[in-house]
Amino acid sequence: MTRYSVIEGKNPREIVLLRGRGCAWRRCKFCDYHLDASRDEQANLALNRKALSQVMGVFGRLEAINSGSFAELDESTVREIERVCREKGVRDLHIESHWLFRRTLPALRARFSAQGVRLHVKIGVETFDADYRERVLDKGIDAADPAEIAADFDDCCLLFGLAGQTAESMARDIRTGLAYFDRVCVNIMVPNTTSVKPDQAARDAFIHQVYPLYRDEPRVDILLDNTDFGVGELE
Ligand code: SF4
Repeated sequence: MTRYSVIEGKNPREIVLLRGRGCAWRRCKFCDYHLDASRDEQANLALNRKALSQVMGVFGRLEAINSGSFAELDESTVREIERVCREKGVRDLHIESHWLFRRTLPALRARFSAQGVRLHVKIGVETFDADYRERVLDKGIDAADPAEIAADFDDCCLLFGLAGQTAESMARDIRTGLAYFDRVCVNIMVPNTTSVKPDQAARDAFIHQVYPLYRDEPRVDILLDNTDFGVGELE
């Protein structure tokens, strides 16, 4: 598992893939990466320290993700992130959170802000089609209005290449994401251990009709493979 990388392209930043206690939701039908988790705080800390020790602070911007939400990281790891931000001059910290933890975010923003670090919190929305999102994907967001979702979050993730999606629906999702969020991160479904399979027609529609429109959009990250940020199962 590769746990540190440098993203040179859009929004240049360093990125670490940390390990926490595990996703509290664990119900998203397409997801198996919540398996990257441990309840052993000392083991998590040792692993996370190793990844964080590689951070150089070159861009003053760090993305710290775990397979779940930032709130599921142990306190000892959060303190280690704070130390690295302080020592390496990181002023912008990108993290991820499930909707479940939205009420914890204001205090977390204040905690980091007091140290001169601005948090950018990304939520996996996957699609703004609320019915599909909840009925098919079981995402666990009990709000349909994008403005309500965006109220607590800065950035969003979308998941494309799923059965039923069309070029039109995917482009609409990106337009909605850009209207309500600072940044949009598009993930393309890849085969994994879940029963949700990539849909070739939806993938082709994205590649040929949607990708060219947003490939150079600075506010849109597009991961054609889920390791395109350089972390995850690369070996
Ligand atoms: S919230 Fe994230 S980690 Fe948890 S099941 Fe859903 S996609 Fe997976």
